[in-house]
This record gives sequence, structure tokens and C-alpha cells, in this order.
Amino acid sequence: MAKKENSEEIYNKARQVISGGVSRNTVFRMPYPNYANSASGCYITDIDGTVRTDFANNMAALIHGHSFPPIVDAVIEQLKKGTAYTLASEIEVAFATHLIERVPSFERIRFMNSGTEAVMAMIKASRAFTGRPKIAKAEGAYHGTYDFAEVSQMADPSNWGKEDQPSSVPLAHGTPPCVAKDVVIYPYNNIERTLNILDKHAEDIACVIVDPVPHRVGLVPGNHDFIEALYAWTRKNEALLVFDEVVTFRVNYGGAQENYSVKPDLTSLGKIIGGGFPVGAVAGRADVMQVFDPHEKNLLLPYSGTFSANPITMTAGYQAMKYFDSEAVQQLNSLADIAVKQIREAIKLAGVPFSVTGAGSMFRIHLRPDPPTTYREAYQDKEGKKLVNELLDYMYYKENTLMINTFSCMLSTVMTQKEIDQLTEGLFRAFK
Ligand code: PMP
Repeated sequence: MAKKENSEEIYNKARQVISGGVSRNTVFRMPYPNYANSASGCYITDIDGTVRTDFANNMAALIHGHSFPPIVDAVIEQLKKGTAYTLASEIEVAFATHLIERVPSFERIRFMNSGTEAVMAMIKASRAFTGRPKIAKAEGAYHGTYDFAEVSQMADPSNWGKEDQPSSVPLAHGTPPCVAKDVVIYPYNNIERTLNILDKHAEDIACVIVDPVPHRVGLVPGNHDFIEALYAWTRKNEALLVFDEVVTFRVNYGGAQENYSVKPDLTSLGKIIGGGFPVGAVAGRADVMQVFDPHEKNLLLPYSGTFSANPITMTAGYQAMKYFDSEAVQQLNSLADIAVKQIREAIKLAGVPFSVTGAGSMFRIHLRPDPPTTYREAYQDKEGKKLVNELLDYMYYKENTLMINTFSCMLSTVMTQKEIDQLTEGLFRAFK
């Protein structure tokens, strides 16, 4: 029998056929990534035989961990009946009904295939509804890879511009200059500066995009006053307030938006609502969502996708969300509260100048004594990144613990106090 190849050998072959050896930079790791063999619950086994506890959960997408039995069973049944049709499927309607009942701001929904696509469709819907060209987004915030959503994403200090006038910098080399011109950048959680900036473009802004707990901005929740000020500004200026809840939908039963007194006009979703399969969705006000409605004589936003609302994703997503009921959300958030408390104790005991931020079942460790309040404070320079990578490598290779590359964790409902203790003890050793 031929010898089974290890991860290093497979990666050497991968580099000959896949650019960089990986199709998503998230799984890239030096000197080579490990290839997954199987995963169950909160554990992943790679083909080299190492078992790791998974605190990344496919970048926050697996709310019940891996191979959750109710999802596996339902998907197997659906697989036997077909995976995608040029016909509508009933399960889409059942799942849509569940989500609409779940969140007060959702009056209509449309499904698509990724968070990137959901943000893109949300931006296009906002433009179609208002007839305006510009969008506003937070400095540094990540919203996927649509040209306009990418502007100022993870911008580095050479590009920041003044604090009261953050620059609109495209991410990808060769982005047409017209893209940056139509994206207005605001400093998250700073009301005065943000409103000053928005006022200068008041007649052109279709929507203000807000991630209620933006990961790259520091995983710090939006202040109530800030979100309310944006809402008031959009009402006064006939623009839309739209939330990117691709990651934050897990924060409450009704998403992170449940924490605020004002409702977004539209919301983009992804990750957990796919139950482990590719997914995106836009949901919100019925009159705005009408831009997608093909009944309209003057259809403002023609929109399709070959795999949108395919019955596999709909089946898996519906199961995932049914099992992520209010009780499950509360239990998971309580476990995260305990984890954060324990990590803060580990930081204190180890005597390192670190801090922790987060919301719901997500948290991020920062290599600074006070939690960051802005993207610029949360930004890791070269030295900071090097240290974060060393800590992540320690956790990965020595503690067999997989975290997200910003030094963050996204918990799943199958985790228990045992995994939290493992994590905090491992982190304590890493800090030391
Ligand atoms: N918005 C946010 C806030 C995200 O974090 C991400 C992905 N991490 C996206 C959009 C894009 O989602 P996807 O990777 O499914 O395209």
C-alpha cells in the first residue's frame, strides 16, 4: 500500500496547483497548514493525527460545532432528494418564516451564498432604493470582499489620514479610483467626528453600514448613543441604516441589534444561519426589500444566484437556528462570560499587559493593558503581529488549540466548562 502523505507533502503539491496553496488566506499557516481529516463537536483531527480543540469554528460559522447530529440527519435526508433545483423549495419558506419571526426588523428576506454577497446585495439594495451612489462604512471594518465594502478594510497607518478625516483607501491593488470616491469612512463610536463627516456627503449617501461589534475595530460593541445618532442622522437625511450581522447574529436570539432601541432598515447575515454550509441573506423593511421583487413593473434590482437558497443550506440552516433558541443563546453567552473572566485572571496572574473585549459568545485578546476603543488602537503593528502569531503558534502547536488569527475565540453550543478550563490554562502558559 502506498504510504499516506502528511500535511507538509500535500501542501507542497498544493502550491503547484493552487495559488499560495490555499483558496482562503484564513487557513494559510507558516510553514504549511495542516489538512483536516475529520471533526466532531468541538474537536478537529488533522491527517497527521493531532486532535485540536476548535475555538475558531470555521471563522464563527459553526454555532453547534462540527457534525451536529440534527443537522447531519436532516441534510442526509435532503441529499437523497437532490441538492439544487431550478425550482423553488419549501424548506426556504419555512426557514424564512423562522427568521422573520425571530427578529422584529426583518419583514422580508432573500437568501444568497456568502457574507460577502449579502453585504454586496445590501449595498446594491440601498442604492436602488435611494437612488444615491455613496455608502459610509467604519474605518478598518471588515465586511467581505465586494469592492466598495473593502475600502479602508484593515488599512495600515501609512494610509490612515487625519483622525477626524479618515482616508478612503482601496484594499486591492488596481481598484478603480471611482470606488474609493463613493465610500465615506467614519471613525467608529465617535459621534461628533462621524456626523461631521457624514454631513459633508448628506445628499449622496445611500446607506451607513454598521457592524454592531466590529471584529477588526477591536471587537468592541457600538455605543448606544453612537448607534442612535446614526439612526437619527439617517432619518434626517433620507438614508438607510444597515447592519452587517454576518458575525454578530449569534450575540442574542435576535442578533446584536436586539441590544439597541433603534432598528436597522436592512441587515446582512451569513455564517451561523447556514448550519455549516455556504450562506448569506439580506433581511429588513418590506418597502426597501421590494427592490428585489420581480412583480414590480419597474424592477429596481434584478437579482439571482445559481445556488441561492439551495435546499441543503436551507435544511442545515433551519436546523442550526431552531436549536439555537433563546435558552441555547443564553447558556452559550454565560459560558463566554466565564471564559472572559478566567482569561482576565490568567492575564493578571501571568502579569502581562493584555486585555479582553467581546460580546455574546465572542471574545478577543489584545496585547495592550486597556481595551482598545478605536480601530487605530486595536491595530497590530509588525511587532504586535509577530507576538500575536507567536502566541497563536504556542496555542496551536503546544496546546492543540485552534483560535482565530486576531487572537479571538468564537464559542459553540457543544462546548463545556472543560474546554474553557483547557483554553484558559493553555493561555496562561502561553502568556508566561
Ligand atoms: N461581514 C463580516 C462582518 C465578516 O466578518 C465577514 C467574514 N468574516 C463577511 C462579511 C464576509 O463573509 P464571507 O466570508 O461569508 O463572504
